[in-house]
Amino acid sequence: MIYKRSSELFSQAQKVLPGGVNSPVRAFNSVGGTPIFVKKAQGAYLYDEDGNQFIDYIASWGPLLFGHTYQPVIDAVIERAKRGTSFGMPTEIETQIAELAVKMVPNIDKIRFVNSGTEACMSAIRLARGYTNREKIIKFSGCYHGHSDSFLIEAGSGAVTFGTPNSPGVTQGTAKDTLLAQYNDIQSVEKLFDANKNQIAAIIIEPVAGNMGCVLPRKNFLKALRQICTENQSLLIFDEVMTGFRLAKGGAQEVFDIQADIVTFGKVIGGGLPVGAFASRNEIMNHLAPEGRVYQAGTLSGNPLAMSAGLAMLTEIENNSQVFDSLAKKTEYLHKGFEEILTKNNIPFRINRFGSMMSLFFTEEDVVDFASSCKSNQEKFRKYFHGMLAEGIYLPPSGFESYFLNDALSYEDLDKTIQALEKISKTL
Ligand SMILES: *Cc1c(COP(=O)(O)O)cnc(C)c1O
Repeated sequence: MIYKRSSELFSQAQKVLPGGVNSPVRAFNSVGGTPIFVKKAQGAYLYDEDGNQFIDYIASWGPLLFGHTYQPVIDAVIERAKRGTSFGMPTEIETQIAELAVKMVPNIDKIRFVNSGTEACMSAIRLARGYTNREKIIKFSGCYHGHSDSFLIEAGSGAVTFGTPNSPGVTQGTAKDTLLAQYNDIQSVEKLFDANKNQIAAIIIEPVAGNMGCVLPRKNFLKALRQICTENQSLLIFDEVMTGFRLAKGGAQEVFDIQADIVTFGKVIGGGLPVGAFASRNEIMNHLAPEGRVYQAGTLSGNPLAMSAGLAMLTEIENNSQVFDSLAKKTEYLHKGFEEILTKNNIPFRINRFGSMMSLFFTEEDVVDFASSCKSNQEKFRKYFHGMLAEGIYLPPSGFESYFLNDALSYEDLDKTIQALEKISKTL
């Protein structure tokens, strides 16, 4: 495949955009090579500036459950744009999407819309702190909750107590309020509660992790978190930016039958436009300004264009809930196809899959947390990524991401993808 124009565009972009991109993973730093500049997309396919076609396994990192240019969403946005793009005043559509979200998601009474998953998670922990009158939060190594200061924390040397910043610009002061536990390790959580009595406002977790590759919660792990939060009057925050409206109508809360105290959304809830949201019961949400004293605001929050895309998306999901089954079946088909080829070729691997999320790790060890995810062979991943790309398959350009299947993918597309793996497997 020729990437001439993408390569030129990337050079131009690097002069005026840091690293040539507006979000780091797009730059291909972890796989090397030239990022592909998209010209357009349709259904399950991407078309780049050089005229190459790819089968897309990221779908904008999750939002496009039904694939690109899904007609009901596109129509809603076009119709809405004709009536004005932003007012900074209340609009009826905000209530409509809120009513629908509250109906679809268990255990929430009210929802606040923001512009990104980052904003949703950042605001959710402020609300949790304001509500509990406590300052510390627990997050899990390898989970991503957006780029706000409190979450850019990694394990420090004396890791049992508090973390250290993993980006310059995050202060030690902020880092000391973020405690780090290990995914699927309830003891690591108990230790933090023991060492920080009555100080923990909330645990925040990706109920199915997607940001260290796809990692599933062990049986009863989420339940144990629910219990420990209840016992300590701390809040349990499910970051459902990835899983919300993707695993089921009601997200991970529905799938695992566990009630979180606060839930955050992004990605699918915006149907491909910039939307995030956080939601909870009245008792907690009423602490939010202007009703309560926990401040949170946004000039473009609840933007009518974004809300129209989100409402169209949620309406489609509400009316076609068999989409989750269809997606899960397609993902399973891909999994089985990959499994067969990798096994036949004696390539060590693990595949983690849940619903329409899936990751392939080149490792001989089960991937259950960040440490085990880090043991997978990244050199092999790079070969795999570029091999597949040359065959017209666009995978996440990092070994620490999940694939997001979309329902525009046909079984023929999946077969092509499996054949592509077969073709390149000799090089792995
Ligand atoms: C993508 C993501 C975020 C951040 O959302 P942005 O819209 O990129 O700010 C937060 N949490 C999870 C679980 C995510 O996958």
